[in-house]
Amino acid sequence: MNAGIPHAPWLKAPEAQALLAALEAARPGGSRFVGGCVRNTLMGREIDDIDIATQLTPEQVTDVATKVGFAAHPTGIEHGTVTVVVNHKPYEVTTLRRDVSTDGRRATVAFTESWEEDAQRRDFRMNALYADASGAIHDPTGAGLDDVRAGRVIFIGDAHERIKEDYLRILRFFRFNAWYARGPLDPQGLHACADLAAGLDALSAERIWKEAKKLLAAPDPRAAWEAMNAIEVRARALPELANHTRLDALMRLEADLLMPADAMTRVAAALAEQESARALGRRLKLSNEERDRLVAALGGDEKIVSYMSLKEMRRAIYRLGNQAFRDRVMLAWAGAGGEKAQAWRALIAHGQMWTPPKLPLSGDEVMAAGVPAGPKVGEVLREVEAWWIDADFPDDKLSVIERLKAVAQGIG
Ligand code: ATP
Ligand code: MG
Repeated sequence: MNAGIPHAPWLKAPEAQALLAALEAARPGGSRFVGGCVRNTLMGREIDDIDIATQLTPEQVTDVATKVGFAAHPTGIEHGTVTVVVNHKPYEVTTLRRDVSTDGRRATVAFTESWEEDAQRRDFRMNALYADASGAIHDPTGAGLDDVRAGRVIFIGDAHERIKEDYLRILRFFRFNAWYARGPLDPQGLHACADLAAGLDALSAERIWKEAKKLLAAPDPRAAWEAMNAIEVRARALPELANHTRLDALMRLEADLLMPADAMTRVAAALAEQESARALGRRLKLSNEERDRLVAALGGDEKIVSYMSLKEMRRAIYRLGNQAFRDRVMLAWAGAGGEKAQAWRALIAHGQMWTPPKLPLSGDEVMAAGVPAGPKVGEVLREVEAWWIDADFPDDKLSVIERLKAVAQGIG
């Protein structure tokens, strides 16, 4: 085997080396890095978290780690995972496993000492690559390295069988294609996903939403998204995200931007209107923050058009906030079919540069001007604010106080 990742910074990091050395001392040749960190390093991509697979039992891992002074947390002890923290860096150490039984949602596992068995229960060949402390690669399926080189996502073994073990793998198939595929989707995998799409109904809201976000966070998920739409997987798992035209327009115009849209803007673009955002939020249990962002992105009173003046733009940003303004502009641009790129781009750029100021006036100051404590204070504040917005946010305390006096007299 000549492929290796000996120069990967995360692998050479003293923390990773110290942990592997401790595990290896307890069982030579018994622990390897696995999954995303190995795959992404081979593909020249950034890595997310670092997973380690080991022949040691979770108790042994805990024991070894604690003896050398590393904190060990039983973060997933029922499926064999201990998170070891070395100098503030977390490593997920999981004992090699094989499936004993599966029900399409969760598996009952048994520990094993066999790398082959551990590899067999993973989803894709490119996800079953292991690296030892020196960076040498182990490829138990014999095809993971080829897949990584070719940029293709292929199930380990029979795609139908693998999906029936865990239907989330349908969504993972599209997610990994969105991120790592260089050519068309694997036809056998695609067929299996189409045949078994009904199994998605049994998945928990949290797992679907997490996968959907990761999929739509890929730099260019268009091919994977189209493939999902073509076989009813999208309609089944994410029925609310049906506005294909606007999402597609958004992803096409993003190519033009230095800062592409994030997953949430894309989700918003795929929704029809605010009510569908609320429906999605309820069904997939989005956080309030996520739901509010989608609802805001999908509209409100402020009208967003490509020919807005800078003053109108500032007013809109003040009312909406920078994030919602940007989302609204992106969606309006996409909705307009990507036309007037120059004007929309300028709007986005200005929108990023301008931070809305705070009204330079407090309730105390309003009362000092003779307004009695109570609802009148808010009334005056709002009226001065309306004048201030209309005057394009003057950074001029004196004229604000002038205005306050006039308003306070009028009201009193
Ligand atoms: P990333 O963390 O960059 O999203 P990853 O490949 O590390 O990608 P994880 O979800 O962190 O993905 O899972 C780690 C590894 O565990 C995977 O590479 C895969 O081998 C295995 N795995 C995770 N979830 C499943 C699943 N549902 N079915 C089969 N194997 C899985
Ligand atoms: Mg990972």
